[in-house]
Amino acid sequence: MTSTDSGGSLTRLTASELAEKLQAGEVSSVEVTQAHLDRIAAVDRDVHAFLHVDTEGALAAARKADEDRAAGEAPSPLAGVPLALKDVLTTSDMPTTCGSKMLEGWVPPYDATVTRKLREAGVVVLGKTNMDEFAMGSSTENSAYGPTRNPWDLERIPGGSGGGSSAALAAFEAPLAIGTDTGGSIRQPGAVTGTVGVKPTYGGVSRYGLVAFSSSLDQVGPCARTVLDAALLHEVIAGHDPMDSTSIDQPVPQVVAAAKQGAQGDLKGVRVGVVREFSGEGYQPGVERAFRAAVDQLVALGAEVVEVSCPHFVYALPAYYLIAPSECSSNLARFDAMRYGLRVGDDGSRSAEEVMSLTREAGFGPEVKRRIMLGTYALSAGYYDAYYGQAQKVRTLITRDFDAAFEKVDVLVSPTTPTTAFKLGEKTDDPLAMYLSDLCTIPANLAGNAAMSVPCGLAEEDGLPVGLQIMAPAMADDRLYRVGAAYEAARDAAQGGPLIDRVPQLEVA
Ligand code: GLN
Repeated sequence: MTSTDSGGSLTRLTASELAEKLQAGEVSSVEVTQAHLDRIAAVDRDVHAFLHVDTEGALAAARKADEDRAAGEAPSPLAGVPLALKDVLTTSDMPTTCGSKMLEGWVPPYDATVTRKLREAGVVVLGKTNMDEFAMGSSTENSAYGPTRNPWDLERIPGGSGGGSSAALAAFEAPLAIGTDTGGSIRQPGAVTGTVGVKPTYGGVSRYGLVAFSSSLDQVGPCARTVLDAALLHEVIAGHDPMDSTSIDQPVPQVVAAAKQGAQGDLKGVRVGVVREFSGEGYQPGVERAFRAAVDQLVALGAEVVEVSCPHFVYALPAYYLIAPSECSSNLARFDAMRYGLRVGDDGSRSAEEVMSLTREAGFGPEVKRRIMLGTYALSAGYYDAYYGQAQKVRTLITRDFDAAFEKVDVLVSPTTPTTAFKLGEKTDDPLAMYLSDLCTIPANLAGNAAMSVPCGLAEEDGLPVGLQIMAPAMADDRLYRVGAAYEAARDAAQGGPLIDRVPQLEVA
């Protein structure tokens, strides 16, 4: 076998397989990391999952992981395994742009808590992944640095905002990635790239060092090609952090154990509710069929499946598009040309206000401006009660729908997205059509619950991946992993292997 061959086969392994090989001394982290850097060099010109690749830093971290292991000090099961980090989490040794010109070249003075935890666990950060500007979007087309392409079909979107992280997984550029999910930005890219994405319980993973979009909704979470890999990463990044005032001071749910239990067992005694509101008009037939087949699979695993109505979920999208822009109009006020990144027109002839206005005009893209204007309007004195205030009431009703549902069932399920990956450019002129991508994912953000997307087959019309969404009560993230892993194992057995193996081989440059 040539060295290229062995590098190629290393990138096909899951994180847990790599972890086992590293532990057994069969490969070094330097070899594993180099294989992924080679893969990035070969395919990322086409995929554009990364905004920044840190070759030197990654290899240095890999050498350190190998030395620690040789000294018997592997700090975590994932020590030496590479990962792709969404460019919205601060890194003291790499730029953090949030996909915006506003922060081009900005190297933060500190690591986010999640970044720090990854480093302490010996995880090797390969680089920073592409995203919609400030995490606003569903396709990565709002990135100021050009879109990411979906490895299943390079003419299609990889989802968003975390399309770079999910595409990196589907293109075998990284076995693990970090995303953030405010309205679906982990789960929707997961669904359309045939990968796994988890939005942990709000407060389950620290937001310290996550550049804020909508602080009451934003959550950092794991992305991977398997449920077990997501669980391993979840346990590395989760846990209480005094630097985040909304962080929950409770033990991290035992998600690795839950994933292992799920993969080996059945789902007898588990009550699953199918959300009635998330089907019908607007849902692609192939998505509905793949979802129904997944539900049948859950029944075959012994789960008790019932239909559940959550009547206020249909108002989640409008409520979200008032709350998220309102919070973003406040959060993005900090980009004032004085404190971070870009400064335009500061030639001594202009006032601070003029420089601020020129900078914000040049630094923000159209979607970010649209959201800031929407939010400023929704919060303005004359409209606050009618818009922001009403949206907060709807948020409470959605939370109550979840509470009522979870009295009857352990988890809720739905398709993750109404359609499979659409074509690049198809929805860029129609913001409302773009927003509909998150119809099914937003309720969990509004209520702060945990939710996962796990691949559930390919839609028959277009052969593109479909996601099964599983939702659980706050701090019951382990239920997602149990059900997700049981479903994944049954799906692989029924379909003759992992779905991701059917992703087309990319032409290697
Ligand atoms: N697509 C949604 C939006 O545009 C969600 C984004 C996210 O979760 N960051 O706001």
